[in-house]
Amino acid sequence: SKPRRIAIIGSGNWGSAIARIIGTNTLKNGKFDSTVQMYVFEEIIDGQKLSEIINTKHENVKYLPGFSIPPNVVANPDIVDAGKDADIFVFVLPHKFVRAACQPLVGKIKPTAIGLSLIKGFDITPGGGIELISNVINKLLNIDMAVLMGANLAGEVAAEKFCETTIGCKDKEAGKLLKELIQTDYFRVVVVDDINTIEICGALKNIVACGAGFVDGLGYGDNTKAAVIRLGLMEMIKFADVFYPGSKLSTFFESCGVADLITTCYGGRNRKVAEAFVKTGKKIEELENEMLNGQRMQGPQTAEEVHIMLKNKGMEERFPLFTAIHQICQGNLPPTQMINCIKNHPEHV
Ligand code: NAD
Ligand code: 13P
Ligand code: CA
Repeated sequence: SKPRRIAIIGSGNWGSAIARIIGTNTLKNGKFDSTVQMYVFEEIIDGQKLSEIINTKHENVKYLPGFSIPPNVVANPDIVDAGKDADIFVFVLPHKFVRAACQPLVGKIKPTAIGLSLIKGFDITPGGGIELISNVINKLLNIDMAVLMGANLAGEVAAEKFCETTIGCKDKEAGKLLKELIQTDYFRVVVVDDINTIEICGALKNIVACGAGFVDGLGYGDNTKAAVIRLGLMEMIKFADVFYPGSKLSTFFESCGVADLITTCYGGRNRKVAEAFVKTGKKIEELENEMLNGQRMQGPQTAEEVHIMLKNKGMEERFPLFTAIHQICQGNLPPTQMINCIKNHPEHV
């Protein structure tokens, strides 16, 4: 069959890192067209368009400086043009931009296309529930969706330091194809079919990472952080149990589960900004702007999405860690309350 065309939708820190892998793999593998389109949300940097910088310097100088992007990856600020012939869409935008960014694609893509979402976060339904981002995309564009989540700090992936990831895919053939697109000798892929649990892990671990950053900021040690990680994991498992019955416990032992939780609680942006939040007393948004140069942390927003749903269902007390982290991010509770929360966690009662 004809080589599949790939469109990467998004070009931030993670989008640029995955573009290095996809660009390299499509050159080597005859199943994929080696011209890869990458949608870039256009901005001007020192008087020049970011898409033009990427296409001439072959580097995303703002979101992944210091790493080349293969020249067969073509930056395109027009999402419809970037996606027009694509067989496989790789979605990698911060979740709050997904709906608006993908709206122009409606009715403009191949009906046989499939999608792979690397996006960690939830959407809020009009009824105050949550919806998985892969479902949002599936409903909007009417394409089958797979997901990819794992212990994958973008900078380390770009530096080709060994890691693992998890792809969630229902269709065996599509799963194999996606693995061929993504796997390298330093980026190892396990494909499982428990898609919802994978996505839940990816979203929720960003909340826990804020808790890890709070205890770091308060001057506690690694034992305390380990407790936050463990209690966070227990709430993640409970969340899957309560809201997505049928979730497999084994999925939490894939890279998307325990491993992503650990790496994010030690090396991620959420942890870093949450620590500074405690130490400086500044607002989260202000710190993001100061510390992340346009990148975004997803934890506080995800905590809010989860909180809206839990509140509607009267279930805040069953998820005290998620709830406390949300209240601390909002400035409704002082960060020191993080410690009370873990002291009194129902896991100990
Ligand atoms: P990022 O934090 O670098 O976000 C900035 C991106 O958002 C830029 O590409 C910017 O152009 C774009 N943007 C800004 N305003 C926009 C708008 N109005 N519409 C569309 N795009 C807009 O992004 P990222 O790190 O690539 O994260 C994308 C997703 O990948 C997130 O869900 C994140 O949780 C996940 N993820 C990130 C990492 C990582 O280490 N960075 C690792 C794994 C997963
Ligand atoms: P942060 O967004 O906290 O940097 O985490 C990135 C990530 O998802 C690593 O897998
Ligand atoms: Ca090829």
